[in-house]
Amino acid sequence: MKINLFDLSLDELKEFVKKLGEPQFRGKQIFEWMYRGAENFEDMTNIPKSLREKLFENSFLGGMSIFEKYVSKIDETRKYLLQLNDGNFIETVLMKYEYGYTVCVSSQVGCKMGCKFCASTVNGWVRNLTPGEIVGQVLCVQKDLGQRISNVVMMGIGEPFDNFENVLKSIELMNSPEGLGIGQRHISVSTCGLADKIRTLADMKMQITLLISLHAPSDERRSQIMPINNRFNINELMSACDYYIKETSRRISFEYTLISGVNDTLEEADTLARLVKGKLCHINLIPVNKVEESGFSKSSRERVEAFKARLEKHGLVATVRREMGSDINAACGQLRNKKIN
Ligand code: SAH
Repeated sequence: MKINLFDLSLDELKEFVKKLGEPQFRGKQIFEWMYRGAENFEDMTNIPKSLREKLFENSFLGGMSIFEKYVSKIDETRKYLLQLNDGNFIETVLMKYEYGYTVCVSSQVGCKMGCKFCASTVNGWVRNLTPGEIVGQVLCVQKDLGQRISNVVMMGIGEPFDNFENVLKSIELMNSPEGLGIGQRHISVSTCGLADKIRTLADMKMQITLLISLHAPSDERRSQIMPINNRFNINELMSACDYYIKETSRRISFEYTLISGVNDTLEEADTLARLVKGKLCHINLIPVNKVEESGFSKSSRERVEAFKARLEKHGLVATVRREMGSDINAACGQLRNKKIN
C-alpha cells in the first residue's frame, strides 16, 4: 500500500527516506517541496531520479483534488468540493478577512454527532480524515488561490475531537516551520463538547483557540438538539472548560446558534449568562443557517439583538457572527459530504 507523504511529520519523512536507503536530509528537501506545492515527484528537481522512482513506487502526494469550486457573489467566499482518493467527498471553505485568508477545514467524511440543526450529520459518518487529508485541504486551497493562508479553523464537516489523534497531528503539520508555518494562535478548533478531550487538550497546553458549540443553556433543551449532551452534560462540559481555562489561560469562545422558538428567549439568555459568568470567555451568536432537513429557522434580527443586549447587560462579551457565503451554502452548518448544489 502506498502511503500519503502528507500523513508524515518531517521526522517521520526522514525515517521513511532512510528506510528507502537514502540519506535523511533528503527527507527535509522533499518536505519543503511538498509544502511549496509540488504536484508530483518529477517537480522535485534536486532529488535524484533513483529516489524519485522509489518514492513513486512507495508513496503518493496529496490524496485529493478539486471536484468543484463555488465562488460567492456576495463576499468572495469560496467553497470547494474536494474528492478524496477513495472517491469520498468533503467540503472546505475559504474566507477573506481584513487580516488575511482563513480556511475552514473538515475533519471527517460525514459526522456521527447528530446535531439536529447541522447538515454535516444528515448522511451519517463515513470515516475519519487522515492528518494529511486535513492539512491537504489548506494546501489545496492555498494553491488554487495563489496566496498564503494565514488562519485555519476546524469548523468544517465532522467533529474534530472524534478524530482527536489525527487532528492533533494535522495541527503539528500546519504548525511546522518547514511546512505551512501557521502559528498555533492562528488555528481554531471547534467541538460539540467532548469533555474528556477538552481536558486532554488542556494538559497539552497548546496555544490554539478553542470554541465550544453550546447552543442551549439547559440540559433538557440541549439534549433535544445535541445528542452529545447525553454523554457529557452541561455540568461536565463546563467543568472541563474551567479546567481548560485554568491550565492554558486561553479564552474560550462559546458558540450559540439562535433558532426561532427553540433557544432564543430572554430567560434563556439569562440562564446562559449565569452559566458562563466569571469564565474567561466570549459568546458568538449565530442566527441558524438554513438546512432543508432541519425545519429550523433563524431568530428575527430584533430577537438576536435583544438576546445579545441581554447578555451584555450581564457583563458578557457577545458578538453576532457574520454570515459568509450564504448564496453557495458555505455558511456554518451547511457543509455536507455530497454533491448537491
Ligand atoms: N463538530 C464541531 C465542528 C463544527 S463547527 C462542532 O460542533 O463544534 C460548525 C459550527 O457551526 C458549530 O458551532 C455548529 O454547531 C454550528 N452549526 C451547525 N449547524 C449550523 C446551522 N445550521 N446554522 C448555524 N450554525 C450551525
